[in-house]
Amino acid sequence: MKLSIIICFTIATAGLILNIKHTNPYFDPKKSHHTATGFKNPYLISNDQRKSFSDLFKMMITKRPNPKIDEVKQLDLDSLSQKIKKGKNFITWVGHSTMLLHVNGKTVLTDPIFSDRCSPVQFLGPKRYLAPSIKIKSLPKIDLIVISHSHYDHLDKNSVKNLGKDSSTIWFVPLGLKTWFNDIGIQNVFEMDWFEEQKTSNINIICLPSQHWSKRSLLKSFDTLWSSWFIKIGAFKFWFAGDTGYNEIQFKQIGDIYGPFDLTAIPIGAYEPRWFMKNFHINPKESISIHKDVKSKKSIGMHFGTFVLTTEPVLEPIEKIKSLVAEDKSFEGEFVIPETGIFYTIDL
Ligand SMILES: [Zn+2]
Repeated sequence: MKLSIIICFTIATAGLILNIKHTNPYFDPKKSHHTATGFKNPYLISNDQRKSFSDLFKMMITKRPNPKIDEVKQLDLDSLSQKIKKGKNFITWVGHSTMLLHVNGKTVLTDPIFSDRCSPVQFLGPKRYLAPSIKIKSLPKIDLIVISHSHYDHLDKNSVKNLGKDSSTIWFVPLGLKTWFNDIGIQNVFEMDWFEEQKTSNINIICLPSQHWSKRSLLKSFDTLWSSWFIKIGAFKFWFAGDTGYNEIQFKQIGDIYGPFDLTAIPIGAYEPRWFMKNFHINPKESISIHKDVKSKKSIGMHFGTFVLTTEPVLEPIEKIKSLVAEDKSFEGEFVIPETGIFYTIDL
């Protein structure tokens, strides 16, 4: 048995044995996603919220792809500064769920991860096979950053610490994560519950649902909230899906209340095996359903092509999205699978 499997097995066992009950200081019994000990997904039955030990172990020993290191097409830094200087509107995929968006003079980053591994330690854990398209130190000034949840592939301590050196950057995080930021010296943080809104110079930020979970330590899970984010910059409407499973209710609700969106970023990868992933990670078919449910005019894929987290072949999400788009002409040209190093122009 591989060393990494033995370590994962030991951690999972210890976690299950030692799992302590956290008290949720935000608990509001009127809210269907709150519990006295943390948070839950209102549209999953309770048996589907957590995995059993045997399921965890079965998943751990399932064979995963082993892709070769992909050569990354870097973002051209001169073009980047020219575009920002000239007020051009664009989005570019940095890797995984990290999107760099520049619209109406504001620069936004989502779930920044620039580390080599998405793991509590940098000597073990999923290692990226695609480098970020830009070095963290080469990023332009970032006005705001949204974080979807506490998992290591979305909340990367090294990246956050680095980006936190600019104290003018504003961070938006779901309930329960603010203390984590404060503890590493970042104070400019808004912590929000689903459907709460913040306004800051020409930008409205609304924290919205996703169907997921959270875990960052051995002893706690479901202790902090997960979310998607609606960012309105002037009249431009962007929705970042975060990491999510599908249900028939929440995305239609987002579309009905807040849509249509000019642009959305939707995960397309990390969905197999379905018996394990289905409740928390959408597959490409569901990515398209979400694109339609939220009434997105244009969507860009993310959460693929960077780390091996699950068992599907690494190119499968791309092929599946392409064939779904080919089958249904009703949304032709609306769903983009991004490549690194490309500026996708946003026409306002
Ligand atoms: Zn993820």
